[in-house]
Amino acid sequence: MTGTPAARITKVVIVGGGTAGWMTAAALSRLVATGVAVTLVESEDIGTVGVGEATIPSLRDYNRMLGIDEDALVRATGATFKLGIEFRDWRRLGDSYLHPFGTHGRDIEGVSFHQLWLRQANLGGDPGPIGDYCLSAVAARKGRFTRPASNPQSVLSTLSYAFHFDAALYAKFLRGMAEEAGVVRVEGRVAAVDRDAETGFITGLRLDGDRCIDGELFIDCSGFRSLLLGDALGVPFTSWQHWLPCDRAWAVPSERQGTLTPYTRATAETAGWRWRIPLQHRVGNGHVYASDHVDDDAALRALLAGLDGKPLAEPRQLRFVAGRRERLWEKNCVAIGLSGGFLEPLESTSIHLIQSGITRLMALFPDRGFGGVEIDEYNRVMLREYAQVRDFIILHYHATERSDSTFWNHCRTMTIPDMLQAKLDLWSGKARTFREQGELFTPDGWIAVLLGQGVRPVSTDPLVAALPPEESARFMDHVRDMIGKTAEAMPTHEQFIAQHCAATIAP
Ligand SMILES: Cc1cc2nc3c(=O)[nH]c(=O)nc-3n(C[C@H](O)[C@H](O)[C@H](O)COP(=O)(O)OP(=O)(O)OC[C@H]3O[C@@H](n4cnc5c(N)ncnc54)[C@H](O)[C@@H]3O)c2cc1C
Repeated sequence: MTGTPAARITKVVIVGGGTAGWMTAAALSRLVATGVAVTLVESEDIGTVGVGEATIPSLRDYNRMLGIDEDALVRATGATFKLGIEFRDWRRLGDSYLHPFGTHGRDIEGVSFHQLWLRQANLGGDPGPIGDYCLSAVAARKGRFTRPASNPQSVLSTLSYAFHFDAALYAKFLRGMAEEAGVVRVEGRVAAVDRDAETGFITGLRLDGDRCIDGELFIDCSGFRSLLLGDALGVPFTSWQHWLPCDRAWAVPSERQGTLTPYTRATAETAGWRWRIPLQHRVGNGHVYASDHVDDDAALRALLAGLDGKPLAEPRQLRFVAGRRERLWEKNCVAIGLSGGFLEPLESTSIHLIQSGITRLMALFPDRGFGGVEIDEYNRVMLREYAQVRDFIILHYHATERSDSTFWNHCRTMTIPDMLQAKLDLWSGKARTFREQGELFTPDGWIAVLLGQGVRPVSTDPLVAALPPEESARFMDHVRDMIGKTAEAMPTHEQFIAQHCAATIAP
């Protein structure tokens, strides 16, 4: 049986011109050539959240989809390259480990490399940190960078990277692309939302003054305000604050000092953590903290005491609650970015969730019938992704030995989500970890954080026994040696930038 297809969408309206709004506009701008009008409304008076400078490798897929020249992007946004995140003081004070992008060693005969590493450690050998077997980690520690090789035989193909950039300049870059492709930007504050009395669908936006913008599909990129999905359509917010108690941040840029590290630093504090994000022209810094456990002044002092250069602006405070809306697509409205949810910036996943929302919306792009199947599928996969990311972040807080503050005692002893508990149980037995249904974080990511936080399984996979310990020790030495030499031969991060993509931006 075939029904009559509903009419095509011809008017898309995006509310908000932050990273989410312009990423969405740039991606949907290709619809303009097919006769779809894409309008973006933003208010300069309200402004954007103004943070969000660290990314993860998936962003390169989005950039590639838009045909962005990466060197041009790095130049325009003062970007640097990011090979991972260094976690200081998370497991215990004085401890440090890296969550690198990329893989550890190489699996042999179906046995995952970390199993060999664990067996050697369990036998009393000294395999060194697992990061010694990951090119991204070794290059990060040495301050080196180059792009990965495409030849899978080359150890350079195991490298993976993302960016640190000025988020406002990234949005500006995308705005240029979107407007050139025909997206129309409207400056104005949305004062009211009109809805169809019968269906509840959004029909138009009323701006200050008399202006009205009507549309068929509305994308809510209005940030924490959640103007359409939250306010107008009343989709409730689910808080995850009991698992992720940090609810405030101070942010301040500082002068660049010393060499450009190709990684983000996340240093645990008594009730949260500080970020350090090196850009070409300045350093982005912030202190994310739980206001139930530390007061604002003390949190600010900790941030300023940890800067490695002079502050370049007054510190700004941000407030948030970790969680997400119960649905991210309701009727003819899709929330992308902070309007849909926020999980705190520890693993720099927010921009990824924007990208994920955009690519899924494009894959399930509706017609004016707004079929329930598409909406349900979108909500199912997006909500699952939020929960998976949430669990990975909780792991960092929960798997700690720290007992020096009420905050860490809470995190260490709290009950965790069942899904995370199941992952930990699987790991704690025979060091097994698997990638679930399109999960963002790979087993290598989980392994780096689990071992970095000191979660040691009681034994290894029985299949490891098939590989004689001496033989696997020789193989591991070879891998470590090859990775060390490869990293040593790479240019420094600064040399690479100077040669390919130096920015000309004043701090
Ligand atoms: C402390 C902190 C650190 C972060 N660090 C990272 C990080 O390192 N990496 C990462 O990936 N993400 C990070 N994020 C998240 C990241 O900042 C956001 O995901 C990203 O900036 C997208 O924000 P947005 O576009 O959804 O909202 P916003 O930037 O807040 O934009 C909202 C837009 O809506 C407009 N608007 C609102 N109301 C109206 C109205 N009534 N009328 C018209 N326009 C309106 C505003 O003018 C603005 O243009 C961080 C967030 C916080 C709070």
